[in-house]
Amino acid sequence: MKIKAVDPFYLRMPNITTAADGTQDTLLVRVRTDTGLEGWGECDASPLVSMAVYCCPMSHGNIIDIRTSLIGETLDSPDDVLRLSEKVLRNGLDIQQIQHAYSGAEIALWDIIGKKLDKPVYCLLAELSGTSDVAHPKLPYASVLFGDTPEATYHIASGLREQGYRAAKFGWGPMGKFDAANDIALVRAAREGMGTDAQIMIDAGVVWGVDYETAYQRAEAFAQFSPTWLEEPLAPDAIEAYGALTQKDPSVPIAAGEGSNTYRMAEDIIVHGGVAFVQIDAGRIGGIMPSFQVRQLAEQHGIQYVNHTFKSHLSLASSLHVFATNRDFDLLEYPAAGSELSQCLVTEPFPVESDGMVRVKELPGLGVDIDTEAIRPYLAPVRIEVGGDTVFEQTLL
Ligand SMILES: [Mg+2]
Repeated sequence: MKIKAVDPFYLRMPNITTAADGTQDTLLVRVRTDTGLEGWGECDASPLVSMAVYCCPMSHGNIIDIRTSLIGETLDSPDDVLRLSEKVLRNGLDIQQIQHAYSGAEIALWDIIGKKLDKPVYCLLAELSGTSDVAHPKLPYASVLFGDTPEATYHIASGLREQGYRAAKFGWGPMGKFDAANDIALVRAAREGMGTDAQIMIDAGVVWGVDYETAYQRAEAFAQFSPTWLEEPLAPDAIEAYGALTQKDPSVPIAAGEGSNTYRMAEDIIVHGGVAFVQIDAGRIGGIMPSFQVRQLAEQHGIQYVNHTFKSHLSLASSLHVFATNRDFDLLEYPAAGSELSQCLVTEPFPVESDGMVRVKELPGLGVDIDTEAIRPYLAPVRIEVGGDTVFEQTLL
């Protein structure tokens, strides 16, 4: 097969707000081959900045856009995906958002190879790594933002409980913005709304920066509500502060990693940050393979790998294939309150099954199809002109 086209698509909701809701817009990437097979991927980063990485005119030999690197290339096997990833990253050596942007194309390449070889992506990863190809169900945790107040948070939590969720994560919003009493009231409301049997997770949304003492105090204060973890209490690159925090052995385990733009950053937060849960976004770190490598590192270090997914079920699919075959990595971040755009993006979202679990789809590739009709109203056509020449014009869906 030859790669015939690499098309990024910018989609957005009519109104974009400052809420920490990454489903308000998105960048999809479609890769087409000369056999008619096509694949899709989704990036979780600034869509238009990432789009530029697909089409910016060459600056020199270390700034070559992703489309130029991929179009015309041979794509027949998983080895080709690895080879092309090397080429794209080498050609984009001096493009700072190269991993973020390339994530969408990398995921699409895996989707195509899975379809060609008639295997789910997780099976291809198992073959490559010589590990088990048995997939295990995951417990989905609903991933939502805190309400503006403890009362609003209680309302959200009890609603999730009524929907049958056995686990939920509450994040961002007012957490850390006021005083300790308010922070504690927010977590109490989440616990009371979800009930004592459920798992709750707390996402502090990087609010304490490098202040690991405050993060430690909050972890101790939240322990009475038994959260599974305290997530991102500190800035993504505050590795020394993470190390100092985890050295104090807080009563609530620390989770982080969604800010890892590269495998190396994830390694840093595992090895030097000492986190108990590492959370990786396949749509940021460069796609499925670097995510899988972090999963393997987590296995070596005896910590738990969890996906970070706050996009559509296309992103959920790519995340799930990465760790489907590890029975112990049993938690799945499951977008539960995304925009209409994110909810209509695939034709058949992953259901929470009757046993309360979510399973990877036993279908070739990622196992999801894009609902192009449903998302077309959200398409915001982009045209980029430089010096009077059109360097990019978005293909219609
Ligand atoms: Mg988070």
